[in-house]
Amino acid sequence: MNSPSTQFPHSVIPRPEHSISRASISPNALKVLYRLKEAGYQAFLVGGAVRDLLLGLRPKDFDVATDALPEDVRRLFRNCRLIGRRFRLAHVHFGSEIIEVATFRAAAAPEREDLPDDAADGAPEEAAEGAPEGDDESGDYIEPVRVEPVRTEPVHGADSEHRAFDVTGRILRDNMYGSIEEDVWRRDFAANGLYYNIADLSIWDFVDGVSDVKARRLKLIGDPETRYREDPVRMLRAVRFAAKLGFTIDADTEAPIRKLGYLLDGVPPARLFDEVLKLFLSGYGARSFELLQKYGLFEHLFPLSAAAFELPPYAYAREMLERGLKNTDARVVADKPVTPTFLFAILLWSAVLRELNERAAGPAPDLALLMQACDAVLKAQQSRISIPRRFAVPMRELLMLQPRFTRRSGVKALNLLQHPRFRAAYDFLLLRAEVGVADTELAEWWTRIQVLPQEERVALVQARPQEPPLPSDGAAPPPGRRRRRRRRGGASRG
Ligand code: ATP
Ligand code: MG
Repeated sequence: MNSPSTQFPHSVIPRPEHSISRASISPNALKVLYRLKEAGYQAFLVGGAVRDLLLGLRPKDFDVATDALPEDVRRLFRNCRLIGRRFRLAHVHFGSEIIEVATFRAAAAPEREDLPDDAADGAPEEAAEGAPEGDDESGDYIEPVRVEPVRTEPVHGADSEHRAFDVTGRILRDNMYGSIEEDVWRRDFAANGLYYNIADLSIWDFVDGVSDVKARRLKLIGDPETRYREDPVRMLRAVRFAAKLGFTIDADTEAPIRKLGYLLDGVPPARLFDEVLKLFLSGYGARSFELLQKYGLFEHLFPLSAAAFELPPYAYAREMLERGLKNTDARVVADKPVTPTFLFAILLWSAVLRELNERAAGPAPDLALLMQACDAVLKAQQSRISIPRRFAVPMRELLMLQPRFTRRSGVKALNLLQHPRFRAAYDFLLLRAEVGVADTELAEWWTRIQVLPQEERVALVQARPQEPPLPSDGAAPPPGRRRRRRRRGGASRG
């Protein structure tokens, strides 16, 4: 086996020659780094934090790499929890901040032990718990590693007792700790493969990562196709970093993406859910969407939506999605909350409309059919990306409220204002109005009524002429409750 360090001699960039100052590093990360060092271990800040600090950005999180074993790390920190099964990572907790400490790894490992047992059904809920950002720190996330940077042929079977690949070249298991020279090959892009050494504040650069950061370039370490086959999510990560940092994807790294997009079909749906949230809810969703389409990846994440966008009657839903993503990005910048519920509503709307039309409808939208269409789309989508119930159910409610906006008379309109999903549904109505499929006057009416005191609201809805109920009104389950198995009598179309 070739030693990576003989192929890529590493350069050490001393403190005076780089711009990273300790003042911009999280004090908790510094505590971890120094305590490891004082106990005689190597301790480095790694990955995105080093990249972002070089760019003058505030890192999202601070990850540490060390030659201390996970058990050693736990002995040093009382506030430490070991996570993962075969590959253990240490999480050092400081209130809400977690510093992830990983032992250098020698060889390839599964991305996140690919959710072996408890993740099948309920765990997607857990995996995404907490943040729309969908942090990787969900307990069983394992970063990939590899030893040989230059293998070009996908290998399957097991090429040692520690390492195994599937037929597409994806790493299935490995479990060896190693040195920093080996650890670097687990990294995806050279720009993410930098190590900041707390011992002398230098940067260790094995892969020419500093030049990539300076050139704002994303280049996979090793052979791109092999690296994508090992872990197809790296294609999404390329898009994400290109969108987020404005980096250019290097030609060789870019070239195989179109051809290999189908590999995403084999990635566990819970992991894709996390990645989709990172792509769309971190402030650069509109750009991410453009790039996903450019590289033919969107259709592998949302096949039904992508297919509907190509059909003239639903093409406007793409514009809604683009506008919705821009609004979402603006909210993130303004530090306002964003939710997967609204995100999945705009992502899946084209597919829902198509399903609805295929179920045939009269002139007025039939609520029972709309519900069936939502459920059919959600069911198909879940096999690709697991959307936890706590987002899927409100998403359906949000879409089910759309036809109800056309009913402005009497108590139904007043009740709609009180619905827990009103605000999100109203935002969705505005998007529909912006692209010309909902009446602007209708949207304005709902804008106006919200700011009125109760008596004036009552007067406004009483002034409206009586309207017939929507077909199948009453068939929808009340908000927050499970869907009933048996449909109420008389709930079908009419
Ligand atoms: P972010 O700003 O989103 O946190 P990041 O680069 O820190 O970006 P993380 O997902 O936090 O990304 O991962 C930390 C580091 O772990 C990366 O910089 C990279 O070196 C490595 N890494 C993470 N996921 C992968 C992967 N799928 N393949 C290879 N290396 C990975
Ligand atoms: Mg990070």
